[in-house]
Amino acid sequence: AGWSLSCRRNVSSSPSRLQSCMPGWVIDQYGTNGVLTYTEDIPVPTVNSPNDVMIKVYAASLNPLDIAMRGGYGATLLKLKRHPMSVLGSDYGSEFPLILGRDVSGVVVDCGSEVTHVAPGDEVWAAVPPWKQGSLAEFVTLTEYEVSHKPKSVSHAEAASIPYVANTALSALVNAGGLCRDSSSNKRVLITGGSGGVGTFSIQLLKAWGAHVTVTCSQNAEGLVRGLGADEVVDYTAEDASEQLEMMEKFDVVLDNVGGETEQLALGLLKPWSGAKYVTLVTPLLPNTDSMGLLNGMCQAGSSLQSKAVQNILSGGVFYRWGFYAPDGPALDDVSRLVDAGKILPVVEAQFPFTQVPQAFQKLEQGHARGKTVVRVT
Ligand code: NDP
Repeated sequence: AGWSLSCRRNVSSSPSRLQSCMPGWVIDQYGTNGVLTYTEDIPVPTVNSPNDVMIKVYAASLNPLDIAMRGGYGATLLKLKRHPMSVLGSDYGSEFPLILGRDVSGVVVDCGSEVTHVAPGDEVWAAVPPWKQGSLAEFVTLTEYEVSHKPKSVSHAEAASIPYVANTALSALVNAGGLCRDSSSNKRVLITGGSGGVGTFSIQLLKAWGAHVTVTCSQNAEGLVRGLGADEVVDYTAEDASEQLEMMEKFDVVLDNVGGETEQLALGLLKPWSGAKYVTLVTPLLPNTDSMGLLNGMCQAGSSLQSKAVQNILSGGVFYRWGFYAPDGPALDDVSRLVDAGKILPVVEAQFPFTQVPQAFQKLEQGHARGKTVVRVT
């Protein structure tokens, strides 16, 4: 959906044409929390292509990516995705005013002519790709492929806590980790950082798939992750945390939500020479393109991935992989069924009204997440 140049109110009657401006939180430059600005003059993102779905946002949630993007993280690569011509120079297109917020739960208000899966009035949820305008606004417009029917058994606020971490976890565990519903029952999986957004979702998904799940987290999160189904829990702050992990039976898959020093430890915990996979969500791709420019950054990231992949396959027969969020509405349909079956619970740690988006960012920035921070938009 594009941005129109001018903003007029109440010009006609169908939901998408009723108004041409909407309220929302934008940033006009990168920086700290002070750059978040509330405005009622954002052009409404109307349906512009046959596959577009326009959603009235009832609830959104925040991810660490929102804090990072507020500060300019990924700006180089995301700009290229938004405006491919920007590769020719900085004059081609601006991302500002930029709307953050990656999760939405809401109601469809308008659809393009080729949309068949959802219709106006349907309750839906979605993860908004980082290269698109986000959900901290009254409306967001996505393609049909990105949108899924919201689970009926939970509120919009609860539903908004799930899509982005779900699409990320599924992409990482299925595409990079080689797991799926029917092949996980004899698998041992280690999730580092199990108490956060991705971790609390992944524990429940893997338990629904029948895997054996070990989690690392702080001591005061043990009750939470055990309540979600974790079989074994290791307090990473304990002096002997590494020894505890090394004493355990080796793992088939590690989902690393922490990175840094955890990477080396986790790689040594995998079953050697049996197709085991280390998947990290903490990758240098976007930071490298930000600091070194597009070409150098991508080359540097690519060569680092390749050398780690080769080194780990040669030394221990384990696969080293990066995991990324990937938009996938059909995958959210499956998650929706698991939520309605009571197998996946939303883990909402904090809720903020739409007037307190900066406070929600502040909460997230303090770290130590225990599940998700949600913003009630409507
Ligand atoms: P959260 O901030 O929700 O959770 C992180 C959790 O990790 C917190 O509960 C924190 O609690 C815990 N933690 C911190 N340090 C450690 C440690 N050393 N060992 C174990 N646990 C630790 O983040 P998300 O779950 O949303 O995301 C996880 C990571 O994945 C983030 O770095 C995020 O940027 C990245 N990500 C990458 C994506 C991609 O496409 N590549 C997509 C989505 C996320 P405490 O500090 O109290 O222990």
